[in-house]
Amino acid sequence: MDYELSPREQTWRDEVREFIAEHVDDALADETRERGNEGRGPRARQFLDALKERGWWGLAWPEEYGGLGKTAVEQWIFIDEIESAGAPMLPLTVTSVAPTIMRIGSEEQKQEWLPRIQAGEIEFALGYSEAAAGTDLASLETRADLDGDEWVVRGAKMWNTMAHHATHNWLAVRTEPGARKHKGISMMIVPMDAPGVSVQPIWVWPGLRTNALFLDDVRVPRANLIGERGMGFYYAAMALNFERLSSARSVRRDATSGRSSRRCGASSSMGGRFATSRGYARPSRDSTWRSRRPRCSGSRRPGCSIGGASPPPSRRWRRSSSRS
Ligand SMILES: Cc1cc2nc3c(=O)[nH]c(=O)nc-3n(C[C@H](O)[C@H](O)[C@H](O)COP(=O)(O)OP(=O)(O)OC[C@H]3O[C@@H](n4cnc5c(N)ncnc54)[C@H](O)[C@@H]3O)c2cc1C
Repeated sequence: MDYELSPREQTWRDEVREFIAEHVDDALADETRERGNEGRGPRARQFLDALKERGWWGLAWPEEYGGLGKTAVEQWIFIDEIESAGAPMLPLTVTSVAPTIMRIGSEEQKQEWLPRIQAGEIEFALGYSEAAAGTDLASLETRADLDGDEWVVRGAKMWNTMAHHATHNWLAVRTEPGARKHKGISMMIVPMDAPGVSVQPIWVWPGLRTNALFLDDVRVPRANLIGERGMGFYYAAMALNFERLSSARSVRRDATSGRSSRRCGASSSMGGRFATSRGYARPSRDSTWRSRRPRCSGSRRPGCSIGGASPPPSRRWRRSSSRS
């Protein structure tokens, strides 16, 4: 088997490296590392704007959706170079959720969501896991019941990373309680500003924030169920497969320092995943995710309250730079 990059792939790598040489410096890498999961700083926003201008925001998207149609290897080259330089990665909204919508969504749904994702208006948190449904995702209990033209969503999600900055949640919910576990799940888009949505912080090693998400009778338009009803388990698996490309890069980091093997680089999207050892999970000081105390409302969106306690003292410096 030939593991060498083809001439076309080498040309692409050189182009990415040129872009990096022009747009990535130590200040950007430091900002990216220091902010962790706390949203983008000014340098990161500037960098991602430059990516958009270059047409690289949807670089793996097919051309019909405004992308470049890059292959998996070309995406890997891009991720490898960008992360090694310590620059912020493309969000999973673009690299995981959008390609899934392209494959499973109706024409109306594609028209509704893809241009807004492409424009950078939408950022998803990924709502798969629950307290008792992680590896065994099919056990999830968050439920959505149809009431007229709306779904009414009730339940709680765990490890809902970036929920405190996201505009929407890409949510796995049980819509067919009578069906077999894997067949009763659907994927739904829930706006974070919908009444009844609340977020509580969970701090994990090495000082990164993830969240618990609570959904109390949240009403969601019927059309926000993406693809076919009852197929959500398979759609989640599809989205997670897209996600793997980014994950593959992160495992090369030094597990002690959280730094890239070549240079610093805790990317905002993958930093949390990097710290997936359950032993390091650190719920809020005075309230576990179950206590649900919606206290400080620091969110920029109405109806989305950030509940819970302060981070442990050693984590406070992150908190002070927590708003993007
Ligand atoms: C920092 C962080 C960020 C995260 N971000 C997100 C996110 O944004 N969205 C999201 O949906 N999820 C997120 N996750 C959740 C992550 O994907 C889960 O941790 C994962 O699904 C595993 O679930 P669990 O932690 O409940 O572990 P469990 O399912 O309880 O598993 C615990 C251990 O047992 C092992 N195990 C489980 N079942 C078996 C079996 N049958 N046979 C052998 N071994 C088994 C597992 O491999 C694991 O080592 C995040 C997690 C962390 C820590």
